[in-house]
Amino acid sequence: MKKIHIAMLLILLLSSFPFSASAKGEENVNKAKQDRMALYKKTAAAAGLPWYYLAAIDQYEHNLPTQSKEEKLIAIEIPEEKWFGAASHGQLADESSILWFQGLGRDGDGDKQADPDNPEDVLYTMASFIQRIGTTKNDIKIALWHYYERDLTVQTIMNTAKLYEKFGTIELDKRSFPLPLHHNYSYRNTWGDARGFGGRRIHEGTDIFANYGVPVYATTYGVIELKGWNLYGGWRIGLRDSNNIYHYYAHLNGFEKGVSVGNVVKPGDVIGYVGASGYGPPGTSGKFPPHLHYGMYKDNGRSEFSFDPYPYLRIWEQKSKQQKREG
Ligand SMILES: [Zn+2]
Repeated sequence: MKKIHIAMLLILLLSSFPFSASAKGEENVNKAKQDRMALYKKTAAAAGLPWYYLAAIDQYEHNLPTQSKEEKLIAIEIPEEKWFGAASHGQLADESSILWFQGLGRDGDGDKQADPDNPEDVLYTMASFIQRIGTTKNDIKIALWHYYERDLTVQTIMNTAKLYEKFGTIELDKRSFPLPLHHNYSYRNTWGDARGFGGRRIHEGTDIFANYGVPVYATTYGVIELKGWNLYGGWRIGLRDSNNIYHYYAHLNGFEKGVSVGNVVKPGDVIGYVGASGYGPPGTSGKFPPHLHYGMYKDNGRSEFSFDPYPYLRIWEQKSKQQKREG
């Protein structure tokens, strides 16, 4: 516990200095990620769970807007009444009292105190809550449902766990532009523009104009969450990344062979092809010039809202160009 506290203090101190070199900032981020990974693995081993589920829960909470801004080792925040149980008013932090009052709080670092401000105790508390229900994938899903009582939250955590398991890391920050750079394409910022079809709607995305059949890439590491036809979007596909963000691709000509719901993808994987489908029953096409409609939606733990993908597309385009130059 001492060690962790010193490490946290160090992180806090370091992050409060205005370093001009961003390299220093990156070093701290990497160090924090390594420390987190070490704690996920240690705690998971103690509870007999795969580490990537604990990592995915922590990542989910890390991306909630309710997160306090201070950089903590573990982002999970267990509500007081859950932690202390019926003793929540007395707030007795020794583990045996909490157990007596049926609180979830557990002691993860062996000091007999179940302290909701101690990252080892917090992660161990979450792990033992799950472990009491079971350690299979399905048990974990059930435990998550009992804890969060929200389908999208459970699905997001399970998807993130799938990504962490598949790639063996929590560093999944690489992104790609959704179209190959050597094809002709054009786009401008049209987010929020009025749209005629289907009544008064605003345009929740960026349209990237390109020819029929140009390959469409996954922009991020993610799990395919939806695939099929919709009145406005035509043939569309959606994937969710590990930052609780849903990426939506519409008006496709068709999908890449073998791509189906539940698949894991990485940046640059072909998932479909540019088309002009939509604005009618299944199969309707050609009511507008071919383009990729790209939308982004953030889940804040209660609801999903769309935000402007344009600035991100610009950044990904620049980075993809840079990577190409560097080979
Ligand atoms: Zn559009």
